[in-house]
Formats: sequence, C-alpha cells, structure tokens
Amino acid sequence: MASSIRKPLIAGNWKMHNTISESVALVNGLKAGLGQPGCEVLVSPSYTALASVRDALKGTGIILAAQDLIWEDKGAFTSGVSPVQIKDAGCTHVIIGHSERRRTFGDSDETVNKKVKTALRHALVPILCVGETLDERESQKTYRVLETQLLNGLAGIKAEELSSLVVAYEPVWAIGTGKTATPEQAQDAHVFIRRQLERMFGKAFADKCRILYGGSVKADNVDSIMAQPDVDGALVGGESLKADKFLRIIHFQEVLAKN
Ligand code: PEP
Repeated sequence: MASSIRKPLIAGNWKMHNTISESVALVNGLKAGLGQPGCEVLVSPSYTALASVRDALKGTGIILAAQDLIWEDKGAFTSGVSPVQIKDAGCTHVIIGHSERRRTFGDSDETVNKKVKTALRHALVPILCVGETLDERESQKTYRVLETQLLNGLAGIKAEELSSLVVAYEPVWAIGTGKTATPEQAQDAHVFIRRQLERMFGKAFADKCRILYGGSVKADNVDSIMAQPDVDGALVGGESLKADKFLRIIHFQEVLAKN
C-alpha cells in the first residue's frame, strides 16, 4: 500500500452523467454507507449539479471537484466556466487534462499548463491527468509520453507553488474500456512519474505527491491496484456512478487490512 505520508484519495469522475436530482440521490446513497473511510473521498459532478451536490455533501467530508476550468476569471468565453465560478459552487479541487478533454475538445499540453497555473493561483487543487494511448504503449513510447505531458503540463511552476498537486495516471486504452492496467503496469508507470516529478521538483515534493491510477477501476480490481506501493488512490469513472460499487472501492483499505 501507498506510503503513510500520502493519504489515499478515491475520486469519482461522473463525467456528463446524471441530472441534478440524480446527482443528489447518488450522494445520499454514498452517505448511507460511507462510515469513516481511511481515505479522502472526492466526487466530480457536472457543472450543473455542483451547487446542489455541495449542499448535499455538507458534513460528510467528501471533497467536491469540477471536471475542468478556463484560465480566465471572467469575460467573453461562451460556455467556459471560470475558477471563480467553480469555487463559488463549492469546489476545492479540479480535474485538468482528462484524456476525454484532450481527445474530444482539443486540450493541449499548453492549455493544460495554463489551467494548472490558474487552479494554483486560485488555491484549487489540480488533479493533472496524464497517460498514453494504446498505440503509444505498443510502440514503447509510454515513458516518453508521460515525461512530455509532465514537463509541458507543469512548465514554469516552482515546487513550492505546486504543493497540493495530485497526478492521475490514466492510460487512455484503459478508460471506459473494461481493460485495466495490471497492478504491475500501474506501479511501473507510477514509479516513472514519481521519478520524473523528482527530477523536476526534488525528492521531498515527489515523495509527498499523490499519484492516482485511473482506467476501469472496479470493486473487483481495486484491492490489487491499491496494494501497489506507489498507487496513492484511484480516479474512477463508470463505477463511481453506482453508490454500492463506489462504496466498495472507497472501503478498499478494510479489505487490505484483513489480508
Ligand atoms: C475516468 O473517467 O477518468 C475513468 C478512469 O473512467 P473509467 O473508470 O470508466 O475507466
């Protein structure tokens, strides 16, 4: 299991699912079985549901995150949502550079970098997503892709400004496909990412930076993935939309403790 200096974080990315009432019902389902988890828990609903989910989460300790943001505080950016607006809606964290944003909406390393800097400027915790496609993995480019995404996505930022950063390793070929990286593949990529963070920002930062794994995490594979020493949590898509499945993922530690 991950180092004790890094509290595990289990994050649910609800993507473009759920109406406002469905989102609140999902929170109520989570509350019913949450208990006292040994990890931080985060949910990331659609923008439209953020304020209602914030209200429903009161007193639970569950963290609220937006799925993206724009790098301006306000202005003529039709359809954009600013850091000021997501904070106003109750967010403390924000997902940046998800592969669906990169692939479908054209987010580049350059815009990802602007978004990370914006989140930090507004004291929002950035969850920076990186990961290779199947083609890149099969042509032995995984490390190069991860290195480039980290170098460019975090360019021009100093270690002391970054202290809250979370990185999510999400191999694109494993997202929403039912194919999960093996625990060894996840550990191997996380070690590479941690070494890269060390090269860029020093050992103290790399040792405390949480690196989540994302890609078809489910109730039946979370324990073996979370048992890896450099896996500090999970970014969960599909399985975070069902309260019972997500609760089982959140409670992975109780299973690990028994084994
Ligand atoms: C994700 O959306 O970040 C993700 C990992 O999705 P899934 O768990 O459905 O693969």
